[in-house]
Amino acid sequence: MAKHAGFSRFVYNYGLSLFWDSLDCKASDSKRISAIKKCLTNVTKKKSEYAWIGELSSRVYQNSFQTLTTAFKRWRKGLADKPTPKLKKHRQSFTVDSSNGKVLVREGKHIKIPTLGTFRLQEPLKESYISQTFTISCTAGEWYVSFAVDAERISPIVHEIYGKTGIDLGVSCFATLSDGTEILAPKPSKQAKTKLAKTQYSARNKQLGKRKLGVKASNNAKKYFQRVAKLHAKVSNQRKDFLQQTTTNLLRKYHTLRIEDLNVKGMIANRKLSSAVSDLGFYEFRNLLNQKVNWYAGFVEVVDRWYPSSKLCRKCNSKHTGLKLKDRLFVCPSCGHTEARDLQAAINLANASEECITTRVGSIRSKDTALAGSPIKLRVRYACGHDAADGHG
Ligand SMILES: [Zn+2]
Repeated sequence: MAKHAGFSRFVYNYGLSLFWDSLDCKASDSKRISAIKKCLTNVTKKKSEYAWIGELSSRVYQNSFQTLTTAFKRWRKGLADKPTPKLKKHRQSFTVDSSNGKVLVREGKHIKIPTLGTFRLQEPLKESYISQTFTISCTAGEWYVSFAVDAERISPIVHEIYGKTGIDLGVSCFATLSDGTEILAPKPSKQAKTKLAKTQYSARNKQLGKRKLGVKASNNAKKYFQRVAKLHAKVSNQRKDFLQQTTTNLLRKYHTLRIEDLNVKGMIANRKLSSAVSDLGFYEFRNLLNQKVNWYAGFVEVVDRWYPSSKLCRKCNSKHTGLKLKDRLFVCPSCGHTEARDLQAAINLANASEECITTRVGSIRSKDTALAGSPIKLRVRYACGHDAADGHG
């Protein structure tokens, strides 16, 4: 598989460099790229030093050119930066497709990828799918396959709870809702950090390599780099999973969600806090809510960053200016109202007046305009073995 990824990268870079060389002659981008493609198949491939190309799947270079075409289109439209060469140290990936239309992917432990062969999967496919294009990528030494399938939209959502629900995001408790629900984040970070620190300590005497001095990394150091990459990948997967699940559950249950503008908390110049904030992924949380809200019918409202959600007393409306970041309990100095800080903040968000809303994403969808039936594209991703298990079988 690494060979195919290398092939894909080679073709991309090959096309890219010839593209820049051919800028002088007048032609459209698509004509230029098809000329480069011909050059690859008719000239370069025939040279003896490129004989290896013949051994690899031809769908790889077809798709590489496709990626290149898209990259140039996006660049011309000003949607993306100028395409740059792909490097070996970047993420390894390549795409193959079936040239005879869609193929059936059977449920079970094995997957047959067009033109590549059959591979054993780490987790079995739960059902059979039909798809045409397969992308194979490598994260921290493990190969994954992902493909798009057509799926039916879920039937219209009937929310359990209408009305406005405030969400207070915090470090000790990931989210506190105005109805009292508390959502705790998994703490992979702390655990992983300890593990990472241990791994780093054990590598203290390894020859890690310094390119400037021309010192190469030792084999043990390479193994160590692999281990560290795996740890990072695990943490990031756990976090993504948590955020995806939490946002879906929230949008299913509640009709209108109110969150505070995260810049306030994100920008608090508190080093300890900022690390925790970035670990928890508050920004990703908000982005996911905004993305998904259109699927579930409902609203996500962002409350102005100057709205004092945690300092305002919800009983007497006075502002508790003396409230410190570490105070977990809110005790109103004027009326004595006592409540958990996060809960009181969440309720304040839910009750905030309309003027405090800075952005509002979402839509009302009545039951008649149900989405059921309109197909969507879903991406399915499956792990398919380690580096060692590379190859057909
Ligand atoms: Zn009060």
